Amino acid sequence: KNANRFREFNLEDRVIAVTGGGRGLGLAMAEALMEAGANVWCLDRLEKPDAEFEAARERAKSDYGGRLTYARIDVRDETHINSILADIASEKKRLDGIICNAGINHVHPAIGHSQEALKEVMSINYNGVFNSATAAAKQMLQHKCAGSILLVASMSGMIANKGMSSPVYNSSKAAVIQLGKCLAMEWGRHRIRVNSLCPGHIMTPMVEMVFEKNPAARAIWESENMLGRLAQPEEFRGAALFALSDASTFMTGSNLVIDGGHTAW
Ligand code: NAD
Repeated sequence: KNANRFREFNLEDRVIAVTGGGRGLGLAMAEALMEAGANVWCLDRLEKPDAEFEAARERAKSDYGGRLTYARIDVRDETHINSILADIASEKKRLDGIICNAGINHVHPAIGHSQEALKEVMSINYNGVFNSATAAAKQMLQHKCAGSILLVASMSGMIANKGMSSPVYNSSKAAVIQLGKCLAMEWGRHRIRVNSLCPGHIMTPMVEMVFEKNPAARAIWESENMLGRLAQPEEFRGAALFALSDASTFMTGSNLVIDGGHTAW
């Protein structure tokens, strides 16, 4: 009887990829999916995954049958992301989901913004998400899987940040929210659901780097949401599980906002 409880969250035998899964938010979500039963591939450009990932891999080996795999990939490389997802899907005969999470932050006002930085942010945060989602959908179609795709955007894709100018980052995330809706429309009749996720500020290596350069940002950010604190990556485990499992089979084209009330303020 107990085994049937919350069976819609059970991911046993499912095959899921998480881009940018080498650390931070991606890794926290990847671990949740693994603990719910999935075989999870963390695809990241880090040459050597962080100690955080190694600890997760050890836990996976001892408690979860080693169902956490790392592969090095740059999401800008369309050919590579296509071939790695094809390899995973042909080995496992399926691909059930992907979280397109890889992204970079960039804080710089529009005037004086370099063209290189503009291209880099858009090519990772937008093109990289486009490449990963499209490569995953091809495999889902080929293997006749009902798939779920979660695009990690940001609350910064919905608002302009006060006191910190990052027009290119914010626009890249707005584009991801819109992409999610269009892909949901394109693939819905093929049983592929697409949603986006808009987190507020989370304590990850990305944000630690912001605080190293600008320590005053922490208190400002904490004061800007209704809970008066930053999120921990683990607070997104439930959202990942919900979006990637059968608990959300009627959700597509949606944008999940999890920001401590920041954008509702
Ligand atoms: P992070 O920097 O800690 O982790 C991002 C991961 O993505 C890293 O492991 C990095 O190596 C990987 N990555 C970057 N570029 C890549 C590329 N070209 N190819 C493959 N992998 C690449 O950051 P995080 O805070 O965990 O962010 C994860 C996602 O969440 C990002 O898309 C970010 O924009 C978004 N987000 C973060 C916050 C926050 O406050 N931390 C808030 C909203 C949205």
